[in-house]
Amino acid sequence: MDNCLFCKIINKEIPAPRVYEDENAIVIRDINPQAPVHLLALPRRHYSGVHEVNAADNNLFGQLFQAVTRVVEQEKLAGQGYRLVVNFGEKAGQTVPHIHVHILSGRLLQWPPG
Ligand code: AMP
Ligand code: ZN
Repeated sequence: MDNCLFCKIINKEIPAPRVYEDENAIVIRDINPQAPVHLLALPRRHYSGVHEVNAADNNLFGQLFQAVTRVVEQEKLAGQGYRLVVNFGEKAGQTVPHIHVHILSGRLLQWPPG
């Protein structure tokens, strides 16, 4: 997808160190972390929101959550707890229109989110 920041990161047109990667997804550190651990899991295939992923590509979610699982194990996050967040649309705070799972950990996380 032209002009998508996360597609450019995935294609290595823009540098971003990878915490984890496999054939379906990459995980990077958020440039503006909201917690001591703030990672972003990005599927390599471009969709703006989860509702755009049609049945023909329903492996995308399993693959994406497999990458989340691997990085949770790798970074040993389960012991301290973690939160997964997916924003869609301006009103929900989405700023990059490429599906990404925020992985937040390392501090007490309030509920409900703002
Ligand atoms: P969202 O607001 O849910 O769309 O999340 C987008 C996230 O991408 C924000 O938390 C930003 O801080 C983060 N972000 C923006 N540019 C970069 C970048 N170049 N590298 C890593 N994270 C980024
Ligand atoms: Zn994209």
